[in-house]
Amino acid sequence: MAPSDKTFTVTIVGGGIGGLALAVGLLRRHVPVQIYEAANAFTEIGLGLSIGPAAHRAMPLIDPQIREIYDSLVTTHADSPGYEEYRQTWFEIVWASGMKEGEVLMELKALPSGQTTLRRANFLDALVGLIPKEIVHFKKRLEHYTEKQDGVELVFDDGSAVQADVVVGCDGIKSRVKESMLSAEESMLTQPRYSGMYCYRAVLDMETMVKAVGDQRARVSSIYIGKGAYAISYPIMRAQKVNTGLYVLDPTWDHDTWVKPVTRERMHQDATNMGRYVRSLVEHMPDASQWALFEHPPISTFCRSRVAIMGDAAHASTPHQGAGAGQAIEDAHVLAELLSDERVETGQDAVAAFKAYDHIRRPRTQKVVSSSREGADFFCLCLDGVEDDEERLKAALQSRFRWLWDLDIPEQAQRAKTTMYSVLESLTDNSRPCNL
Ligand SMILES: Cc1cc2nc3c(=O)[nH]c(=O)nc-3n(C[C@H](O)[C@H](O)[C@H](O)COP(=O)(O)OP(=O)(O)OC[C@H]3O[C@@H](n4cnc5c(N)ncnc54)[C@H](O)[C@@H]3O)c2cc1C
Repeated sequence: MAPSDKTFTVTIVGGGIGGLALAVGLLRRHVPVQIYEAANAFTEIGLGLSIGPAAHRAMPLIDPQIREIYDSLVTTHADSPGYEEYRQTWFEIVWASGMKEGEVLMELKALPSGQTTLRRANFLDALVGLIPKEIVHFKKRLEHYTEKQDGVELVFDDGSAVQADVVVGCDGIKSRVKESMLSAEESMLTQPRYSGMYCYRAVLDMETMVKAVGDQRARVSSIYIGKGAYAISYPIMRAQKVNTGLYVLDPTWDHDTWVKPVTRERMHQDATNMGRYVRSLVEHMPDASQWALFEHPPISTFCRSRVAIMGDAAHASTPHQGAGAGQAIEDAHVLAELLSDERVETGQDAVAAFKAYDHIRRPRTQKVVSSSREGADFFCLCLDGVEDDEERLKAALQSRFRWLWDLDIPEQAQRAKTTMYSVLESLTDNSRPCNL
């Protein structure tokens, strides 16, 4: 069977980076796609984005154009003349408190790609260019779905409904697809939860940044580690701008919304013990708003029947490893490979693809969520067994990121296919048990 002979269409709910990467991967493999997006255009409200080496390796396997777009848009350290030697550096880790305040603890390399960052909106806009307009339906906010005999009915908040063969929910951290997919009890218990940290964020001009922290600290991506807080800065937009954030541990969030305006005094207070660099860059942050960081508690499955969830809909993570969008990209690769496989002919076969996807991707992505959460304590020098011990910090940094970045991406997809074949066989041969 040629891949274009599929008897099903994949309906994607949500057109963020995850949904669009999946759509591009499926279209390249001749799998029919429709996209339903809540907004009236594809938009990204986020600021900068940094993609780690594993997701960077997954991009060309989804579609070489994604990697070409990404590489054409990214800023690297080599965009700052004189800083070419930092090409493979991910971040320099700088002490923000203690006796060594201002000194570099270590240079963390991300081989081979180094630090690659971009403005989210630029990446999303370029991905949109790969999607035919006629498959996109804007102003369609999913309310809920119900399973039908041969498919799924999607119901939107404007009262309209569509029938779908197979659905992938890419509708972000407040996913309605997830809500419909899980039992009412599990859904209630696994609402996004406050992670114990909020942040202040800003994009500053490079000139301002150089005045604030000097040339080296402005141009080399930096993580400032301190007691109870950490800060981050990395150049974007060909080093014309710098994305910055101050992250503060606080066990409670007592506000109804996820963003809370506070006074500048309060923001400065949060930077008081964070050393000269962080204090100085916070002085230049124009907006004193706290952004609460939420994450997903682990859920029991990423699929049910003909519906699956991916990206933040399935495993929204705190940003402390810069890995959330990267995980969505890894999901998109595995799902595109499975759904386009020649043995997946019908919507019913997609059930096996989703089971295999869940089996392979859930453990890794849920570990990313928990290790990212731990990363907050790590950078705030309060992780049990590490705290501010220099040697332990260095060793732990290497091992935490090696695990995240060294994944064999083609092998992961191959494992998923092998799992799927075994599920497909068990579905046709009742005597073959399937333990998934
Ligand atoms: C401060 C911060 C910094 C971060 N930095 C990084 C980083 O450097 N690197 C990294 O890899 N990750 C980072 N992340 C994580 C990253 O932003 C997310 O993991 C990523 O954007 C998830 O993409 P997604 O497509 O799954 O979801 P989203 O980007 O949330 O997209 C969801 C889409 O679904 C649509 N939608 C929502 N509800 C509905 C509905 N009911 N019906 C239809 N459509 C709907 C939305 O409009 C949107 O278009 C960061 C996160 C934060 C908070």
